[in-house]
Amino acid sequence: MRLLTEKCTGCGYCVLVCPYNALTTNGWAKLIPANCTDCNLCVYACPVDCFVPELETPLKPYRPRVKEEYEVVVIGSGIGGLMVGAALAQAGRAVAVFEKLGFPGGRYTELTYKGAAVTTSAWTSLGPRSNIGRLLADLRIELDYVSLEDVGLTEQYAIHFADGRHYAGLFDLLTPQTRKAWLKAVIGGRKSQSSFLNQISAADYVAQFSTDPDLLAVVDAVVTTASGLSSSQMPASEYIQIALASREAGRQFAMPRGGVRSIIKALTRTLREAGGQLFVRSPVARILVKGNQAVGVRLADGREVRSEVVIHNGGPARFGQLVGAKNLPRDYVGRLTALRGVECAALFCATRQPLFTDAPITITPQCRWVAGIFSPTVLDPSLSRTGHYLYDAFFPTRSDDRVAELGLALADLRNLFPRFDDVVEWTVPMFFTGAWPGTESGQTFGQTGDHRLDPVTPIENCYLVGMDVKGSGVAGDLIPVGVRQLLAYLKVELKSQR
Ligand SMILES: Cc1cc2nc3c(=O)[nH]c(=O)nc-3n(C[C@H](O)[C@H](O)[C@H](O)COP(=O)(O)OP(=O)(O)OC[C@H]3O[C@@H](n4cnc5c(N)ncnc54)[C@H](O)[C@@H]3O)c2cc1C
Ligand code: SF4
Ligand code: SF4
Repeated sequence: MRLLTEKCTGCGYCVLVCPYNALTTNGWAKLIPANCTDCNLCVYACPVDCFVPELETPLKPYRPRVKEEYEVVVIGSGIGGLMVGAALAQAGRAVAVFEKLGFPGGRYTELTYKGAAVTTSAWTSLGPRSNIGRLLADLRIELDYVSLEDVGLTEQYAIHFADGRHYAGLFDLLTPQTRKAWLKAVIGGRKSQSSFLNQISAADYVAQFSTDPDLLAVVDAVVTTASGLSSSQMPASEYIQIALASREAGRQFAMPRGGVRSIIKALTRTLREAGGQLFVRSPVARILVKGNQAVGVRLADGREVRSEVVIHNGGPARFGQLVGAKNLPRDYVGRLTALRGVECAALFCATRQPLFTDAPITITPQCRWVAGIFSPTVLDPSLSRTGHYLYDAFFPTRSDDRVAELGLALADLRNLFPRFDDVVEWTVPMFFTGAWPGTESGQTFGQTGDHRLDPVTPIENCYLVGMDVKGSGVAGDLIPVGVRQLLAYLKVELKSQR
């Protein structure tokens, strides 16, 4: 196996899937040739095609049986692609979903590593009251959630300052006066003019209500944990949406039992039960366009599949590549290429002793690098081996010096939890950058509200779905907004609405 290190973005997926410890990462993947058995699993785990098999006798290419024609082809099985695919299959359309990786879910699932469910990015939705929870209910998917209430907790996040101060929740930290000011900012924001809130940063907006440095530090850490941005990079409108959605979830804040892959498994099952097909290890190489109309796709193995409708879930950059710039109006190509990805990282850890138990999330304001830590095992201990506790420490990336960034993140963890080195079992760094960013457009200034992409593209019968399409909310929870819009364009009513 050859590893093209120059293409590596550092996501760590290959390390998670390699059964022979032939891969390590210090922020960039490294191959240990002596351990490699050429099993090829990494080829189908890498989102950016870093692995090139080098067998003397090449393996027979994977070639699933695919029909020549479908009504709908979905490119990519991220949560957006699967939601729209499942809804269309339920509406009786002949749907095929093509996924380049060896597993469905994209950045919204878990891979099993050393007996633990390690997220491929997303930790959780906010639970049944979130956009994702409501859309799943509309697809008649019943999930078994573990909520705060179920495990006897009251707060979504506790607060642990770098200087050692610890608070059970935001209201535990704030004085009554600051609490009132923050509520006024958030609840009043719902009624304010969106154009003003789109133009002012979350940091400047909250500072108009209170200059309490602790509140501003928490707002910054919450924004970073939810999006990878600082509070001065995110418009106030997005912060308000995040704060309101978290409040709305309340003690119903929940994670699906078994992790977010339970959502992906349920969507895949729903798609298939309704007659749809999902093909993994099946990259699409081209969206076929005739005149100005999408007529199907060409798979990477050369086969062409005709389709009345093509839906793309792979992000704006890949959409431009698959359609070809010459098929798109120049201003639209300009919009796609101008979108900037949010770069961020997480250090995933397993420990032999719990680091915290008072909330699933610990927000860590004023730390040098880490902004927040999610512990899925606080809600569902079965996500790891007995006696192991899982933590995903989230931080923005600010340089190419990943060794230094990881050093700073580790220093934060050691400072916050002085026993960290005694209890840590293993860590895996996961960077989301370059061609596989945290989000391609996300919630950055100038990329929100009306700037976001519509599901309708300039190519007839060709649509977009996923993180980069219109919507607003807590990270991936904005995706169902675009899914609903797309279904309305396609004149599909969700089952529960019929
Ligand atoms: C560190 C981190 C933490 C996060 N935490 C949360 C969280 O807790 N909650 C939350 O809601 N969101 C979270 N997010 C955001 C969330 O992960 C994303 O919003 C969401 O997963 C994006 O889904 P999507 O539908 O846009 O598609 P993606 O997950 O991007 O999937 C796109 C799919 O398309 C496939 N594809 C691409 N090109 C092709 C092709 N040519 N042919 C076939 N297939 C192709 C890809 O392989 C991929 O599987 C987090 C993100 C990061 C980075
Ligand atoms: S081919 Fe298999 S053994 Fe070799 S690095 Fe990839 S996953 Fe590991
Ligand atoms: S991009 Fe991710 S999967 Fe690919 S080699 Fe780098 S770390 Fe591994």
